[in-house]
This record gives sequence, C-alpha cells and structure tokens, in this order.
Amino acid sequence: MTKQYNWRNRMSIFRRIIIVFLGTFLYLSFPTRAEAILHIVSSFPQDASIASLVGGKYVTATSLSKAINDPHAVQPKPNMAVALNKADLLITNGQDMDLAWLPIAVANARNSKILEGTEGYFDPSAGVSLIPYNSEELKDTPFYSLNLISGPDHSGGKNSTKRGNHHYWLDPANGIIVAHNIANKLSELDPVHKAQFNNNANKFEKTLKAKMKIWDAEMLPYRGTPVVSYHRDWIYLIQRHGLNLIGYVEPRETIPPSAGEVVNLILRMRKAKVKVIMTSPWQNQRIPHEIAQKTGAIHLSLPSSVGSDVGAKDYIDMFDVIYGKLITALKQAK
Ligand SMILES: [Zn+2]
Repeated sequence: MTKQYNWRNRMSIFRRIIIVFLGTFLYLSFPTRAEAILHIVSSFPQDASIASLVGGKYVTATSLSKAINDPHAVQPKPNMAVALNKADLLITNGQDMDLAWLPIAVANARNSKILEGTEGYFDPSAGVSLIPYNSEELKDTPFYSLNLISGPDHSGGKNSTKRGNHHYWLDPANGIIVAHNIANKLSELDPVHKAQFNNNANKFEKTLKAKMKIWDAEMLPYRGTPVVSYHRDWIYLIQRHGLNLIGYVEPRETIPPSAGEVVNLILRMRKAKVKVIMTSPWQNQRIPHEIAQKTGAIHLSLPSSVGSDVGAKDYIDMFDVIYGKLITALKQAK
C-alpha cells in the first residue's frame, strides 16, 4: 500500500516537473498573447528581408512582389489582397516606385489599418541619399504622361515635390538607413521590443559596414571604368564606386529603346571602349545580349532584389552576389 502510494506520488511530482518544464519552454519559445507578432507586408522583397532581419521573431514579413518582377509594373493578384488584409504594417518603397500598382492592391484589401496616412503605412526612405533625375529623363515616361509625377522641373503633374531615383536600396549605405527607419517604426507599433529591434538594426549595420569596407576596397581599382546600365537602377552603385556611366540601354525610364537609340548606344560604347553592361533579371535580356555581341562587352545580370528566383538569400547576400559577379567581370574586362 505504502509502496504504491509512494510510486503514485513520485509519478505526480515527475509529471508536475514535466509540465513546468514544458510551460517554461513554450513561454520562452513563443511570444505570448500580449506579445502578438506583427504581420508585415512590403511592396518589394528587399524591404521584407530587412524587416525580417530587424524584427526577428516578433514579426512575419512577406513581399507582394518577387525579385524577378518589374518593380514599376507588378501585376496586382488576388493573393495580394489576402496578405494585405491581415497586415499590421505595409512597407512601401517610397519615391513613386510602386505608384502604378500598390494603390490598386491596397484598395482591394479592405484593411483600414494600412491605408496611406495611417500608422500602418510606412515609407522607409526618409533620410536616404537620393540621386536626382535630370529634367529630361522623366519626360515621355508612363509616370509623366499619366500625370502621376511632374519631374524635377515641377511643371504640371499631380505632385510637385522633388523626386529622387527610386532604386535607392541598391546603395548598401541606404540599406542601413532603411533598417534603422524600420526599427523605429516597429518600436512605435510594438514598444515592448524596442531594445531588440534597435539591437538587430545595429547588428545589421555592423555586418553590412564590415562588408562595405571590403567591397569598397575591391572596387577601388576600377574607378573610371566605362560601363552601361540597362535602366537607372545601377546608377547608385556606379556613382558609389566612381564608374564612368556612358549611357542607358533604355534612355527613357521604363520605355524600350528604339532601333536608332540602340545603334547610337553601340557607337558610343565602341568609342568609350565599354566592357560591361549592367542589367537586372526583370529587364529584357535580348537587347543587351545583342549589344554585347556587337561591342564585345560583358553582359551582366545582377540581382536587384532578394529571392531564390535571383539567387540572393537576403539583403546582405544580394550585395555579396552583385559584387562577386561585378568584380569578376571588371577583372576580366581590364
Ligand atoms: Zn526605375
């Protein structure tokens, strides 16, 4: 009798220990109800990547578009409305990058928390250094003709504020500013984890800065090298490293070049001895391929965002891949 009692008693103590242990484990592993996870949706994968690195286990972050999509003209899809409907925070790119498609996706989502002007709508580009467009660049583009933007000369257009080149995330220095902006925004929505968000942003900055030091040194011998970019996206890296931009495959934003423009570019490339054409996976690769064949330049496709579709795991890895390919090509071209 006593023996049986002791055995039962021991079992119950053992069970209690297990329950306490499991409870502690679950408490430490998952945020409690009071620490609800923030659901973040971004227009583009690079912002989902930065938000995920900064938010850590306190957020989920998904992107509406893929790296392989043309960021100016993403097709709104029904699954975007589903993601946006559940979102606590929408991270846009700012600088009119998603102007042609994001407002439609948001309107379809029926989520008042993420409407422009509310605290759930966030443009992370405050404080980034922007390359301005010159006054001729935007004319004849869909943005300009649809009266969506006015261009830097402020003549006409719906909005008259000065716009910068919207591909600013392709300078890693701007990614650091974006990370801190996102940390501040997350702290506003979830003040309990402010310290963690700031720590994560500081860690991101430290890692990226250490790599930038190496990349900058590796790019130094190629200052002044003549290059061509398909679109205005690679201008941020071209200026950062003092490469010499001879021209764009697409002289007007988002408009394919005419046959005459291609011939003109080929002539300028031969004269300047351009050896590298920088493109992104979402661009028409046939045109730069032909130009490369006629000029002997290396046709380079570099990931301009994050995703397995372009072989870049996260925002920092994206630059590892970009610099790996770019430096190899520049070495070959020398
Ligand atoms: Zn663009």
